[in-house]
Amino acid sequence: MNVFPTGNILGASGATSGPTPVLQVKGVTLQYKTKQHLVTATYRVSFDVYGGDRYVVLGPSGCGKSTLLKAVGGYMAPTEGEMRLKGVPVRSPGPDRMFVFQEFDQLLPWKTVKQNVMFALQASGKMRGRAAEAQAMRYIEKVNLSKFADSYPHTLSGGMKQRVAIARALAMEPDILLMDEPFAALDALTRRKMQDELLQLWADTRFTVLFVTHSIPEAVLIGNRILLLSPHPGQVKGELNSDGNDPVDPRSGVKLSDRIHEVLFADRIEEQEVVPHG
Ligand code: ADP
Ligand code: MG
Repeated sequence: MNVFPTGNILGASGATSGPTPVLQVKGVTLQYKTKQHLVTATYRVSFDVYGGDRYVVLGPSGCGKSTLLKAVGGYMAPTEGEMRLKGVPVRSPGPDRMFVFQEFDQLLPWKTVKQNVMFALQASGKMRGRAAEAQAMRYIEKVNLSKFADSYPHTLSGGMKQRVAIARALAMEPDILLMDEPFAALDALTRRKMQDELLQLWADTRFTVLFVTHSIPEAVLIGNRILLLSPHPGQVKGELNSDGNDPVDPRSGVKLSDRIHEVLFADRIEEQEVVPHG
C-alpha cells in the first residue's frame, strides 16, 4: 500500500559511511515571538539534502516553508534543533546559499541584466572585472537571455526576470540554491515552461537545490525527493522519491499526486470520518 519509497535516495550510504549531506536539518523548531503571540512555524523538522538533489519541501500556505528557507539562509535561528551546511552549523547568511524568490522585484531596477548578475559576484568579493563579467555572461546564456544582457528589468517579462534571478544565484556557484515558490506568480503556461527550463538547467549544471512549493504537480515534476509538511505548524508527514512522472501505484491504482494529497490532509479526512458517528 505504501507508494512512498521513503528514506533517502542514496539508500543506506547517507546514514553512516556515505558522503556528508550538503544540508542537514535536525529537529528544527522555528518560532516567531511577537508581543502578543508565540507563533510556531515549524515543529521538529528533519531532513538531509545531498549534492545534486532537487529537494522539494511541499506543504500548504502557512506551514512554515518560507520560514524554513529563511533559517537555512541564516536569517533566523531555530529555537530547537540545528542546521548544518557541509557539516558546519549555520549561524549567519553567506554566499554559499543563494535565494530566488517569487517576487518579480528582486532585481535592482537601475542595473541591467548583466550588471545585476555581476553585482552579487563583485559585492561578495568572489570575482571582479572581466572575470565577473565573463561569469555573468556564461550564466545569462544558460538561461537564454544573452540578447537581453544590456536590458533593464522593467523591460522584461515576469518569466525573464525570474530567469535573471536564477542566473544571478547560480553564477555565485552556491553550495545550495534556495528557491521559494519561484514560479508561483507566473501565468500557468509560463510557469510550466520555467519548470522545464529549470530541469534542463539542472541537467546541464547539476546544482543542488532546495525548492519550496505548495503545488503538488510542481513538487512531483521538479523534485527527485519530496518532503511533505503538515499544515501549520509544519511537521514532517513523510518523504518520498519522484521521477517526475506521477506514476500510478499498481496495487492501489492511486496516482502519486493523489496519494500526496491524502497524506498532507490526512488529519482533515479523519475529522470528516468522525462526523457520521457523532
Ligand atoms: P509558508 O511559506 O509555508 O506559507 P511561512 O513560513 O510564511 O509559511 O509562515 C509560517 C507561519 O509563521 C504562519 O503562521 C505565518 O503567519 C507565521 N509568520 C511568518 N512570518 C512571520 C512574522 N514575521 N512574524 C510572525 N509570524 C510570522
Ligand atoms: Mg512562503
